[in-house]
Amino acid sequence: MKILVVGSGGREHALCWKLAQNPKVETILCAPGNGGTAQVGTNIPVKDDDIPGLVKLARDEEVDLVVAGPELPLVLGLENALRQEGIPCFGPNAFAANLEGSKAFSKNVMAEAGVPTAPFRVFEEYEDAVTFIKERGAPLVVKADGLAAGKGVVVAATEEEALEAVEHMMVKKAFGSAGDRVVIEEALKGEEASFLCFCDGVHYAMLPSSQDHKAAHEGDTGPNTGGMGAYSPAPILPKDKYAETAELCIKPILRHLAAKGEPFKGVLYAGLMYTENGPSVLEYNVRFGDPECQPLLMRLETDLLEIMFACIDGKLDQVEVTSSQQTACGVVMAAEGYPGPYPKGMEITGIDQADAMEGVKVFQAGTKLEDGKILTTGGRVLCVTALGDDLAAAQKRAYEAVAKIHFDHSYYRRDIADKGLKRAK
Ligand code: ATP
Repeated sequence: MKILVVGSGGREHALCWKLAQNPKVETILCAPGNGGTAQVGTNIPVKDDDIPGLVKLARDEEVDLVVAGPELPLVLGLENALRQEGIPCFGPNAFAANLEGSKAFSKNVMAEAGVPTAPFRVFEEYEDAVTFIKERGAPLVVKADGLAAGKGVVVAATEEEALEAVEHMMVKKAFGSAGDRVVIEEALKGEEASFLCFCDGVHYAMLPSSQDHKAAHEGDTGPNTGGMGAYSPAPILPKDKYAETAELCIKPILRHLAAKGEPFKGVLYAGLMYTENGPSVLEYNVRFGDPECQPLLMRLETDLLEIMFACIDGKLDQVEVTSSQQTACGVVMAAEGYPGPYPKGMEITGIDQADAMEGVKVFQAGTKLEDGKILTTGGRVLCVTALGDDLAAAQKRAYEAVAKIHFDHSYYRRDIADKGLKRAK
């Protein structure tokens, strides 16, 4: 079997690594891929937003399955375009992908489906947004409607910050048309967790809970990033709460979209905030999170290829999806300066030594393989992921593995999973 994985992050390396474990998988192509995916399969230089290019590649190479890692190709209609060609794609169609592609759409669906979420208003006119902010006062959260690479959300502690955010989005067009509309919502207080399910349009299979670390620096300080590390399970969302959480946050969405004739197939990711009143959905993503994907796939016991085809064929109820009892912890090694400007082209050493440790896998993100050497190309460079019998053991092993890896100007948070350890005490 031949598979094309779309994307170039640590998540895509993890997807390639997991899919390659099925003996039926003979060839893995990754577009555009990274240094890690080049070691599992073959990288092809087609970008993740080039839908005609990806469809042509899938057709020319006669692939049996396309797996979309990031949200952008899904929002741009990759699944729809491949379906027309009769090529199976793991990931939702463009309509369902709007759960992530448009925050206004997503919040409206949540409200219609009865999912708990922060009270909100959608604005298309700058003046209306300003009037609302002045009436309401801070704190408020201002969100650009469209995709803004995780930068389109401002948690405004003061009225001035909220006003500045709408001006930035709606007047200065900092995110282009993504800021034509904004969502303004109530600011919630609590701890966040991620809850992901495989979905086949009707049925869902739950993955264990996980927690990302968005802030660049220790103690959740500094600017927001794509994610500096993750672990699973997250004690804030224990196993005995999974079924209830899915009933509340996943099932109503599946039912709503199926009723519209646009069933959701793929991974539905609910970003949750645990408030005094229970969980509230902050956002949906329509794909695996990066870095949550890495610890989740380290724990996944069921064959990923089988799950993906079951999602596409509407037969997920026939597959038992299980994860190991172990805990997994992934620490992101980044280039110093990220998410601001950072140096590139540094040689990375020690990946093999870390990979050789029991229960450790180094997933590569911003890397390339050149003349047998692995060089950094991006801000988030590696996600060093380890399994352990409990969170403390997984964390200890992940940092032991990190210590074996070297590149100039490397940076990583030293407190990944500390929050979970504190809560578990
Ligand atoms: P991502 O980077 O996950 O793609 P995003 O740009 O899609 O993020 P959200 O997940 O909606 O946006 O928000 C980003 C972050 O902002 C959340 O992880 C959370 O920390 C904070 N946030 C969002 N909504 C709220 C809210 N209503 N109250 C408090 N904090 C919030």
